[in-house]
Amino acid sequence: MTVETDQVVRSELLSKLRHEVIGLDTEFTLATGERTRRIYLDSTASTLRLQVVQDVLDEFMKFYSNTHSVLHFGAKLCTQEYRRAHETVLEFVRADPKRYTAFFTGSGTTAGINRIARTLREARPERDVVVTSIMEHHSNDLPHRKHFPEVVHVPAAMAASSLGCVDLARIEKALKEHPGKVNYVAITGVSNVTGIINPVHEIAELAHAHGAYLVVDAAQMAAHVPIQVSGHSKAERDIDFLVFSGHKIYAPGSPGVVVAPKELLAALEPQVVGGGMVDRVYVNRYTVSRHFPDREEAGTPNIPGAIGLAASLDALLLVGMDLIDAEECQLIENALAKLQKVPDLAVYGETDCGKCKRTGAISFNIKGLDHALTAAALNDYFNIAVRNECFCAHPYVREMITLSLSEEDLSVEELEELADLHQGMVRASFGIYSTEADVNALAAALEQISADKESFRERYRRLENGDYVHRDFPFNPDEVFSVKRAVDDALGL
Ligand code: PMP
Repeated sequence: MTVETDQVVRSELLSKLRHEVIGLDTEFTLATGERTRRIYLDSTASTLRLQVVQDVLDEFMKFYSNTHSVLHFGAKLCTQEYRRAHETVLEFVRADPKRYTAFFTGSGTTAGINRIARTLREARPERDVVVTSIMEHHSNDLPHRKHFPEVVHVPAAMAASSLGCVDLARIEKALKEHPGKVNYVAITGVSNVTGIINPVHEIAELAHAHGAYLVVDAAQMAAHVPIQVSGHSKAERDIDFLVFSGHKIYAPGSPGVVVAPKELLAALEPQVVGGGMVDRVYVNRYTVSRHFPDREEAGTPNIPGAIGLAASLDALLLVGMDLIDAEECQLIENALAKLQKVPDLAVYGETDCGKCKRTGAISFNIKGLDHALTAAALNDYFNIAVRNECFCAHPYVREMITLSLSEEDLSVEELEELADLHQGMVRASFGIYSTEADVNALAAALEQISADKESFRERYRRLENGDYVHRDFPFNPDEVFSVKRAVDDALGL
């Protein structure tokens, strides 16, 4: 196959995947009485599920068995596929299987990062400082605070008048200020607020030069950009620990995945103990299995979650993340250009993709309108699903809002009042199924809301918790779906 044909085949495959997605055609009735297809722009929270993943799972479930059972047919099949799921993860993130293991943890990236923080604290107690950044999701911040006495939050660098990626010089400064004390640097590969991409391999070099490990939160990286954990021409650029979640890469449930060096883990007792990770257990002692990933996976694993994730990664490997990355970059650039033309719209973070590469998400506010009202109006009048508030990244969101307000000619009191009012943003986020048409619909809807702020304000009531409810358009989820009714229907009752 020539390079050109390969490209054509991969593009066709991508087109097939993006058109066969569960939940893309779901319709809702709007406040206007119209019934339309929803536009799903909340993929940073959770992506929709690819049809191929569901098909594979339906087939797999015919054989479903516990992977700790051994000798019956189903057990053999499930155990083999569950083992392969780990190999697929390592292949997807390009981690050398001789050096690295992949293991599944409980709930998403959060479980994985908690696990790493505990492990590394135990592995090197004398190094009791963690360097992280202000851009982090709370899941890549609070676990370090819980397990280490000192966590340094490095700011994002200024790029023109807004924030760009994490400030490398400040990371180096933090490492130098704590010689021999930094256990690891924990950085998000891609911000879940702005979609700004951090240069993780440059950060790896800095961390390694000071004897620190690099932990990458790849929750927002995995579905959007190619990842290469190991095999760099300079070994210092390799990543030590990488974590991501199945629910953010087109798979069901929320299996968290950790990719970690075997040598380091082998020297420690695993953090979680129980069935499946031991060879022998006596009442006064037990011996931990030497096998990876078994020793890191006590208890019956989330087998369907792992199989679904493997199916998704297999499909994405066939397309190639380079292609997905290139197409999504284009979509983001176009979206940024269109959104910046909407009157009174403030887009957060550096918007020049030449200066600062972005993927996956764009956060913004309509000036003078509460983020929750904008999100409610986008949903109720335009069937556009977005997220609002602070996206579990309070320090970063606060920093950007204050920065954007400080451009205006306001007293300190006015600034504080406005910052409180705008303590949040609206986020539109994308997946492989997002299209130019979705972006156009978003820009057109925002234009209408921005042009008619007062009228939208009048249609809503603000609740004490900050949410907005429509004055005469109550939405009752039960009218659309309830498990109980679906069970009755399925059973013909
Ligand atoms: N890190 C980042 C960058 C995220 O976007 C998220 C989820 N929004 C998390 C960590 C936490 O992931 P999970 O909910 O799968 O634990």
